[in-house]
Amino acid sequence: MIIGVIGSRGTVPTAEDATTSFLVDNRFLFECPSEIVQAFQKFQKNWIKVVESSANTELKALGRPTFGKISHIILSHLHFDHWGGLPHILHRIILLEREKREQEPLNIVIPKGSTVPLQLRMKEVFSLTDSNFPISDDEFLYRYLAIEVGTVINLLVKIHVINVGETFIPETDYSLSCEDNSHLPQGSVAYKFTFKKVKLDVDKARDLEIPFDSTLKKIESNIKPVSVKGKLIKRSDIFRDLEVVMGYSGDTTLNPKVLSFFSDCNIIIHETTYLSINESYHLDLHTDLVSLIEALREFKKLFLLLPIHFSIRHTSKEIKNAIDQIKNTNFQIHDTSSTFIFQADQKSIIASYKIPKRQ
Ligand SMILES: [Zn+2]
Repeated sequence: MIIGVIGSRGTVPTAEDATTSFLVDNRFLFECPSEIVQAFQKFQKNWIKVVESSANTELKALGRPTFGKISHIILSHLHFDHWGGLPHILHRIILLEREKREQEPLNIVIPKGSTVPLQLRMKEVFSLTDSNFPISDDEFLYRYLAIEVGTVINLLVKIHVINVGETFIPETDYSLSCEDNSHLPQGSVAYKFTFKKVKLDVDKARDLEIPFDSTLKKIESNIKPVSVKGKLIKRSDIFRDLEVVMGYSGDTTLNPKVLSFFSDCNIIIHETTYLSINESYHLDLHTDLVSLIEALREFKKLFLLLPIHFSIRHTSKEIKNAIDQIKNTNFQIHDTSSTFIFQADQKSIIASYKIPKRQ
């Protein structure tokens, strides 16, 4: 799993840094802020610099990130800094990728209930009396985007509504689930994105002279060793289970419900909220980096924490001090005020570029 941080600001972008958005395996775009097009292009340039100087095969296999490769846009909630760039991406599709997307529509994932605040506001503003309000989230978003970019959009995108407790499979080997993150009264979630694959060590299988036929399946599915040409072969001799679980909090204080949802994560991308923690629906927990790190010490599988927009509450010195404090923990922490590419299965940072000036 390759994770590229495109933006790490909260709420308001700067010329140097976009608001929260990141790309997983060059196909899954989490969040789509208003400035996504420029930020993505900047990310592409940084990517090219990295790939040109890297021998990393996984990175090279993914190829350069392009708009055309994005298969899914996954939105945690419909605040403008999280989805305001969607019309730009869709206009781009209409102008440049129409034929391709007619065959393979762009998938947009939104949480159930995420359009309700917009619908209710419209109903109020226009004094609508339609008793059918609110309509379903996907129906509303199709209609809304049709106003923005034209009804042709119905052919080019596919909207999926995800509910808490459900699992969405965007592609083989990947799964997405969500939990209410209490950022809004409804329709705002934290996501867990899992990549799981059984990988065959081809060279090892050849060395052990294992035939590449149904024998492989037999070894993979058997708990006990399988006899092959007089040798006992264990599953672990030739198969490796790859699993990476990424949690993304999506604009929230890290409340107990989200924390428990993240307990089996290897990576947590935590975007803390800008909203006042005194709002009734916010739980006053882990709004500072030090207490967050303390809470995460229990997480045995965690190896990376990427905090996003803690700068709203803390000076860079405070963030640095908090980072220094975790030298003895089992996970690393990385300041995301930089463009950043991370290879999760290797637990390595491939590239990080300091953003020149942070305001
Ligand atoms: Zn928000």
